[in-house]
Formats: sequence, structure tokens, C-alpha cells
Amino acid sequence: MRILVVEDEKKVARALRQGLEAQHYDVSLAHTGEDGFFRLSAETFDLVILDLMLPGRDGIEILRALRDRGVTTPVLILTARDAVDDRVLGLDSGADDYLVKPFAFSELLARIRALLRRGRPDQVLRLQVADLEMDLLARRVARAGRTLVLTGREFALLEYLMRHAGHIVSREMLARDVWGEPGRDATTDNLIDVHIARLRRKLDDPFQCALLKTVRGVGFVLGEGTT
Ligand code: CA
Repeated sequence: MRILVVEDEKKVARALRQGLEAQHYDVSLAHTGEDGFFRLSAETFDLVILDLMLPGRDGIEILRALRDRGVTTPVLILTARDAVDDRVLGLDSGADDYLVKPFAFSELLARIRALLRRGRPDQVLRLQVADLEMDLLARRVARAGRTLVLTGREFALLEYLMRHAGHIVSREMLARDVWGEPGRDATTDNLIDVHIARLRRKLDDPFQCALLKTVRGVGFVLGEGTT
């Protein structure tokens, strides 16, 4: 899940990114309203965390311009302005939720989960392959009830493999869809192999049955009883 954080205070932006990445969200930062607006017009995000007091165009202007252009990405306003009028203005301008600084990080996470849930009612939010379970909202993975601690990239890799369970996933597919590289090269292959090895250590080594198999010369397949 991709989140754009529009926040001009670099320290706050960095802290947000760190905390959200720890929850396996894919986080991008924009430090001005213009940059945020540009990113939102050019790329797809699942959620925006928007500061109101920004240099140049402020958050409300950005929000209105986005909604006018038909951008429906959920927006959570995060701001020090706590007056009721400010909240009303934010929500009336098209925000989906509003959180006042200082805030508890756990509350921010809960609101993000709620917005993502609301925005994607028809989306699959849980994946399961044999005794392996992935909760896409809570960003949690467990095998046989035991939580696996994964990095963001490992999580994305495993999510992709689970979505293609029982089918061979080639290095080309992983390079393109997980790493965002247009094509395979030796560096990307090496990165893929390193991540597959790490994932295998966490996913399979502690358990009896291996779920992640290498198909020599072709790619990888995730599933029970596949060879
Ligand atoms: Ca600010």
C-alpha cells in the first residue's frame, strides 16, 4: 500500500516515514504543496497524509484542486490547527479524516487502516497459502500462527508470491512488479536472489514443510506440494 506524506517539517516527515515503513507501508515524501500535488497527479497512491500549513499553496488549496480534478485518493489531514472551524473546512474541502498534532502514532495507524478499508471494500484483504496467512491491512504475516518479522521489500515479495500461489513467478516478473525495474539485469537478479534467500530463512527454515521452491532456470513458486 502506497502512502504519500505531504509535510514541510522534515523532522516530522522523516518520523512519519520511519513509523509507517515499520508497518510495511510504501511511503513517499513531498515537502511542499506543489510537489505533493504533482506527485498525486502523476502517480497512484492508496492514501495521502496531508499537512495544512505548507509553504506556497496550503493543504486546503491542494486538497480542493485534487478533488476538482477527480482524484479520489483518501486524504487524512494531519495538522496542528485544532479549531473546530479548521476541521470543518478540511472535511468540507474533501478530506476523509482529520487528526490533530500531537497525536498518538497508534491512533494514526488505526485511522489509516480504517480509511484503507473504506476505500477498498471489494479488495482482498487477507491472503492464505497453506498455513501461511497475510493480513494486508494490518500488514502482518504469520505461519502456523507464528508472526514473521519481514522488511518492507520482503513483505512485498511475499505478497506477490502469495497472489501467484501455485504458479511459477519468473525473475522478470519480480524485477518488473516488485522492484519496478523495466528489465532483468545481473544486479537485479542478484538482489532478487538475496531477498528470496532471506525470505526463505524466515518463511521455511523454522518449519517442517517448505512453501517456497526454486524452479531451476525458470523462477520460483509458492505453495504446498509444488515442486
Ligand atoms: Ca507545516
